[in-house]
Amino acid sequence: MSSSRAEAIFCGVDIGASATKLVLIGDQGQVLARVVRHSGVDYAATAETCLGEALEQAGVERQHIAGTVSTGYGRQNVAFADAHRTEITCHATGCFSLIGRAMTIIDIGGQDNKIIHLDEQGRRRSFKMNRKCAAGTGAFIEEIALRLGLDVSQLDPLAEQAERSVKLGSFCTVFAKTEILAHLRQGEPVEGIIRGAFESVITRVLEMDTLEGEIVATGGVVAHNPMIVRLLAERVGREVTIPPHPQLTGALGAALLAARRSAPAAPSTET
Ligand code: ADP
Repeated sequence: MSSSRAEAIFCGVDIGASATKLVLIGDQGQVLARVVRHSGVDYAATAETCLGEALEQAGVERQHIAGTVSTGYGRQNVAFADAHRTEITCHATGCFSLIGRAMTIIDIGGQDNKIIHLDEQGRRRSFKMNRKCAAGTGAFIEEIALRLGLDVSQLDPLAEQAERSVKLGSFCTVFAKTEILAHLRQGEPVEGIIRGAFESVITRVLEMDTLEGEIVATGGVVAHNPMIVRLLAERVGREVTIPPHPQLTGALGAALLAARRSAPAAPSTET
C-alpha cells in the first residue's frame, strides 16, 4: 500500500518476554496502528513482523517512520530502533499521556510486575519492579493454565463463574502447581482454583509497595483478565482505572518518546 502523506510517523516497540507490542503514532500523537504478537524466540524477527503488520494497518510505508524507540526485555534486539528506553520510563510516559493526572501504575506483565508512582506532572516519584520470581506475574497464570489443561484465554471466564476462591497458600509457582493437584484430588472446583490463583497474583503485587491516589492498572494480565482487576479493586477498596489498550501503554510511551526525540527544542517531560 502506498501513501503520499507528509506527516512524520513514530514507532514504539515493547518486546516483552511473553508478548511484543508495537504502536505507530502520527505527529500529533494520534495512534495509527497497534499490533500485539507472541514474542517467540526470535525477538528481532517478531519485531519486523509486527512492524510490517502495523505499516499495513496504517497504510503507510517504512520510509515515513521518522523515529523508533524500543523498550522491554528484548529492546536491544530491534534492529530498526534509533534508541532504547526502560520499561518504567515508557509505561509512565504512555499512562500519563492517557490519564494526565498523578497516579500509581500497577503493571502486571508476563515476566514481571511494576508499581510506578507519578506526580501530577507525570514525573516519576518512585517505582518497584519484581523480576526475580514468576509468582504474581502472567507466567504464573500461564503455568496454572498448563497444569489445568486449559488455554490461558479460558481462565477469566471460568474464574467469573466461581462461587468462592480456593486459597493457594504457596508463594512459589512450583509449589502452587503441586497444591493445585491436591485441591483437584480433593474435588475442589476448577473455577474456584483459578479464582484463588488470581487472588494469589494480587497478593504478590500488593506486597511490592504501598498504593497512593488513583490506581491505574496495565499489562497483558490486566488486559485479558477483567476478573483480576475486579478482585484487585475489591481488595484495595477503591476503583481501579484501566486505560484504553492496557497491554500497549509501554509501546505507546516508546512511540511518544520517539516523537519527543525528533523535537529537541520541546521541553523534556521524560519521566
Ligand atoms: P510481557 O511484556 O512481559 O511480555 P505482557 O504485559 O504483554 O507481558 O503480558 C503477557 C501476559 O498476558 C501473559 O503472560 C498472559 O498471562 C497474558 N495474556 C496474553 N494474551 C492472553 C490471552 N489471549 N488470554 C489471556 N491472557 C493473555
